[in-house]
Amino acid sequence: MMQHYLQTKKENKDCILFYRLGDFYELFFDDAQVASKELELTLTGKACGLEERAPMCGVPFHAVDSYLTKLVSRGFKVAICEQTEDPKQAKGIVKREVTRIVTPGTNLNMQSLEETKNNYLMCILYSSDIVGLSVADVTTGDYYLTEVDNLRSLMDEIGKYNPSEIICNDAFTFSGADIDEIRNRMQIFVNPLDSRYFDEDSCKKLLLKHFKVSSLIGLGIDDFPNGIVAAGALLQYLVDMQKSDISNITHIYPYLTSKFMLLDSSTRRNLELVETMRDKQKRGTLLWVLDKTKTAMGARTLRNFIEQPLVDLDEILLRQGAVETLVKNVVTREEIREYLNPVYDLERLMSKIVFKTANPRDLLAFRNSIKMIPAIITSLLDVQDDKALNDLANNLDPLRDIYELIDSAIVEEPPLTIRESGIIKDGFDADIDHFREAGSNGKNWLAQLEEEEKEKTQIKTLRIKYSNVFGYSFEVTNSFKDKVPEYFIRKQTLANCERYTTPKLKELEDTILNAQDKLNNLEYDMFCKIRDSIALEINRIQVTAKALALLDVYASLAHVAEKNHYVKPTMNDKGVINIKEGRHPVVEKMLDTSDMFISNDTYLDNKKHCISIITGPNMAGKSTYMRQTALISLMAQIGSFVPAKKADICVVDRIFTRVGASDDLGSGQSTFMVEMNEVANILRNATPNSLLILDEIGRGTSTYDGLAIAWAVIEHISNRKILGAKTLFATHYHELTELEGKMDNVNNYCIAVKENGDDIVFLRKIIKGGADKSYGIQVAKLAGVPDMVIDRAKEIVSELSDNDITDKVQALVKENKLDKKVRVKHYDDVDIDQMSLFDTVTDEEVLRRLGEIDITTLTPMDALNTLYKLQSDLKNRWKS
Ligand code: ATP
Repeated sequence: MMQHYLQTKKENKDCILFYRLGDFYELFFDDAQVASKELELTLTGKACGLEERAPMCGVPFHAVDSYLTKLVSRGFKVAICEQTEDPKQAKGIVKREVTRIVTPGTNLNMQSLEETKNNYLMCILYSSDIVGLSVADVTTGDYYLTEVDNLRSLMDEIGKYNPSEIICNDAFTFSGADIDEIRNRMQIFVNPLDSRYFDEDSCKKLLLKHFKVSSLIGLGIDDFPNGIVAAGALLQYLVDMQKSDISNITHIYPYLTSKFMLLDSSTRRNLELVETMRDKQKRGTLLWVLDKTKTAMGARTLRNFIEQPLVDLDEILLRQGAVETLVKNVVTREEIREYLNPVYDLERLMSKIVFKTANPRDLLAFRNSIKMIPAIITSLLDVQDDKALNDLANNLDPLRDIYELIDSAIVEEPPLTIRESGIIKDGFDADIDHFREAGSNGKNWLAQLEEEEKEKTQIKTLRIKYSNVFGYSFEVTNSFKDKVPEYFIRKQTLANCERYTTPKLKELEDTILNAQDKLNNLEYDMFCKIRDSIALEINRIQVTAKALALLDVYASLAHVAEKNHYVKPTMNDKGVINIKEGRHPVVEKMLDTSDMFISNDTYLDNKKHCISIITGPNMAGKSTYMRQTALISLMAQIGSFVPAKKADICVVDRIFTRVGASDDLGSGQSTFMVEMNEVANILRNATPNSLLILDEIGRGTSTYDGLAIAWAVIEHISNRKILGAKTLFATHYHELTELEGKMDNVNNYCIAVKENGDDIVFLRKIIKGGADKSYGIQVAKLAGVPDMVIDRAKEIVSELSDNDITDKVQALVKENKLDKKVRVKHYDDVDIDQMSLFDTVTDEEVLRRLGEIDITTLTPMDALNTLYKLQSDLKNRWKS
């Protein structure tokens, strides 16, 4: 046995091996050392033919899943070595083999997974031009494929799916992606695979075989050559881990990343779409507000909606139509929600059925869920004028046959394990009925047979007797010996009687004695047969499950729209965002009463209202206002109604946010570096159709540098030749309000406050114009900073204001220095106007910057940019 163990371990070196021995899974040697620590198990030892006893620990077989999940969630790969023959039948050592390998992305233990969240496995085929990408959730059967053309887009996709495991080619680990960040901060298990997984031919063959098609064109994926390889490698990995076909994957969905609004990971975090920034909770997020779904499938789908807003206007309008119809038809909607209430997770139940882990109770849950479908179909007749709802109704299969099969076969309170009897209903199968009756009615049958034979043979003393050695037999006393008929077969002779059997008695004996064993086996076989026959219907069931999930999402969005007084946004193609009396969907819910929230208007376009500079005191509500605009846009693009009195929204291709200062010590970056990284990303990747939310750019450095950067960023964005993206820009640099009037598309807004002596009252209302104060000291006082500190701060501020930065900027403006235009050649060959604000570069500075360049890592483009920057700084100094 130990030799077999060692051989198996050798074949699965990278796994912790759980080795089945009777009622336990045992772990030996290093595995035992590691697992005993991780799982807090007692470490013992076993004689194994070596000098020293092998370290050993174990877990009971029925509790294996929880131990396994614990190890997997800590980044271990676990192999399960099962007994593959009945130990009672085994001759010599029981046969064992590895039946599955579990990793974070291939874990089928549904109890350990979050119901309302997919558990994605992602496969990356990295190459410097086109990156192939495939994602699957083996618990639901979802399977996607795409391609991206740069590392940043790849990181956006990773942020979108947030997989629990990434499998990849070696090139990905050298791509420049921060693998430590992915592993440690994003908590994703990264697992580079052997290059054989990425063999193009094998990948194609596997996909053709799996989907039983003769060409990949039929699957619609032939335009994604690298995506195909990623998808093939992913499927092969799943097969290798599960040691079986992955037959719950019945479709592959290719998609273009441009089909969805692009959201980078910091924007997802900043907007708190599905988890809060601070404690990663659902409460306090957009998902928390919108999720009133009734099923786990609906909850997952809604999460996916929020994670990937649409950019195709027709698709948005289709969803919006369904939500509107369900807002208007309240009775139908609430009826549907009521019917959805008892519907279980059909997708994950289906996976359990396909992977043969579903127990009888799972089948009952399945039956109880599909029981509701006919009623849902009938309700949908009321709203069949709506295209999306009608399409969805057409995809709903009542699954009557499956309902009837389970209903007629499985008892109402079956045992938990399928090895026990008592699963199959009476009357479903004649053999099962027979053996069940044999168990309970055996005595009656014997008495009946005894009576029959007594009558036939006229042997008055005929008795059926039982002995442990000879089993059941007819006992005939010697005085009736001559009446014994020919079909009696003699078994035993005793002093004053003979014992016989008959074919009928023999059959009865077999039936009675083997009834329980036979019954267990028959019920087990029948249950498996029923489960397998349901597995064959996977296509119908998956389509129906997806339709139910969608319906649940539409009903939830409609329910929330009504309860929270949202309106349907109109969608325009003029690049205008015009929100009347908009509210922040989450902040208004967090307040004691929703009418405490003060609504505000937003107007942005690509012409005169491109950039709004928002000033106002700390705590006034600037961030809330900006985020609410972003969230309203995003909600409109998932098809939802929005928190406003009226909203006219254009489709935006990306939302970028740069909000607040956050240190990223874990990745070795300072607050300011994080901020500038985000700014760089925004300026390089935004388009005129993007929405930019910039909160306090330049706050992480000295006042002069910060103001200069903020100023230059606004110039860059407002220049239509370069960007011209709709932007909300909040700042405490009141000097920036000088830009209104200097650029025709920049406007000032501020958030009103009322001064009341030394205190301030927040009015939360956004009004035209710029603020000239931040009221930081008043807010510090409100927060409870000691009076001594507050008084001293007031003294300092009054001294500083005599020669503060505002005076300096105004002086510069007066001297006309800020209007001085410098023609520069942009690296993209775009001629832009740039204003030089501070001409401070010195020779030493230029030399220092030259000396600090790391030529070994500099790309030609960076070299050109650096040279350009140095030269233009010098030219500016010479001109001034
Ligand atoms: P700072 O400049 O210090 O970052 P801020 O101006 O960005 O502050 P917010 O963080 O947006 O201020 O708002 C502070 C708090 O004010 C919010 O947490 C919210 O509770 C409340 N608030 C903001 N806007 C509104 C509003 N329109 N109606 C009611 N309460 C609001």
